[in-house]
Amino acid sequence: MKQSQKLFNHSQWVIPGGVNSPVRAFGSVGGIPLFIQRGRGAQIWDVDGNVYLDYVGSWGPLILGHAHPEVVKAVQRAAEKGLSFGAPTEAELQMASLLVQLVPSMEQVRLVSSGTEATMSAIRVARGFTGRNKIIKFEGCYHGHADSLLVKAGSGALTLGQPSSAGVPEQTVANTLVLEFNNTQNLRETFQREGEHIAAVIIEPVVGNANLICPQDDFLKNLRELCTQYGSVLIFDEVMTGFRVALGGAQALWGIKPDMTTLGKVIGGGLPVGAFGGRRDIMQCVAPLGPVYQAGTLSGNPVAVAAGLATLKLIQAPGFYEKLGATTQALCTGLTQVAVKRGVAFSAQQVGGMFGLYFRTGVPQNYAQALDIDIERFKGFFHAMLAEGVYLAPSAYEAGFVSASHTLADIKKTIAAADVAFAQIV
Ligand SMILES: *Cc1c(COP(=O)(O)O)cnc(C)c1O
Repeated sequence: MKQSQKLFNHSQWVIPGGVNSPVRAFGSVGGIPLFIQRGRGAQIWDVDGNVYLDYVGSWGPLILGHAHPEVVKAVQRAAEKGLSFGAPTEAELQMASLLVQLVPSMEQVRLVSSGTEATMSAIRVARGFTGRNKIIKFEGCYHGHADSLLVKAGSGALTLGQPSSAGVPEQTVANTLVLEFNNTQNLRETFQREGEHIAAVIIEPVVGNANLICPQDDFLKNLRELCTQYGSVLIFDEVMTGFRVALGGAQALWGIKPDMTTLGKVIGGGLPVGAFGGRRDIMQCVAPLGPVYQAGTLSGNPVAVAAGLATLKLIQAPGFYEKLGATTQALCTGLTQVAVKRGVAFSAQQVGGMFGLYFRTGVPQNYAQALDIDIERFKGFFHAMLAEGVYLAPSAYEAGFVSASHTLADIKKTIAAADVAFAQIV
């Protein structure tokens, strides 16, 4: 029996579903999850000694690849000085200064330990600031697993066929309005009807949790204008897109200034760091200055912050995002070409270092279209790619990630693998 199988059998006895986050269980592709032993650069090794080119990158954080020597060194140095103090450290100040410099819409920022904490806190602050209760989110956007945001929440929930979750009282989500992404008309009507009750709109400016969906035309610009007109706080959830699509995030690419931003994933470089920040007048509502309570025993943890700082230093190298984008583009173009050659209905697109693969003709523009794919073909493709040594996200509704350590030779290998995989599924 394979070692991964043995470990998974045991895990299922002591951990629900054998995993600590649902999508890891391979539930939507079938088969058993691989237990990973180590990673280096673009590659990971499983406990059975197989090696894979990795396009999951721990679901986004690993923009430099696995175990980058400078990040590992920074972690080791920080760890030797003490693991946690629950008191301010200079490294947190450096991290906050860097974040407000690189994402200028954030005048102040607070560090937390996960993306979920960041979005949950941002919503609370927006409600405290406006004195209003209602929030708007969009179908297919995932903002972590806080109660009020678990409605039509994209990939994880999608993969399990649970559009929301048991254990969330109806009253909790009664103030959450869910609208269609890229539908300005729908948005405008909602604001006209209840604009003065809307505390915040939270959005993934590029959706990365219902495969990948790009904002169309002036959708984000119209959203910005409506929020300004009605005094609602616009929250860009850039936990995935922050430092992934560009140095300044999706807000820099699309030229939109949100009132608040949430970050996570890349800013921890593989360790648990999240952040929420925004306009100074809004952030002044946060305790101890203001009436909105928010806290965390391990917030700004020195080891995690060291990994984040080392990562943020390296991604500022000139040309970093141009190269990352070109590599990711080469992957999408190559995959589409071999799919066409093999007669598979397929499309792909990228923004910076994230990409979407769709078993449909034409890229999706909303959640319904993202769901409208040939799921059986995706499953076949996923397993065929795995057999060829390529580790893709084990779900048809997740974005993929390329790191700076993926070379054009890696991309070529991946496209050759896809040629074989596509041939097997037609
Ligand atoms: C991953 C993600 C979150 C949640 O972050 P966690 O660290 O998993 O809690 C929130 N929002 C977006 C857009 C994400 O991609």
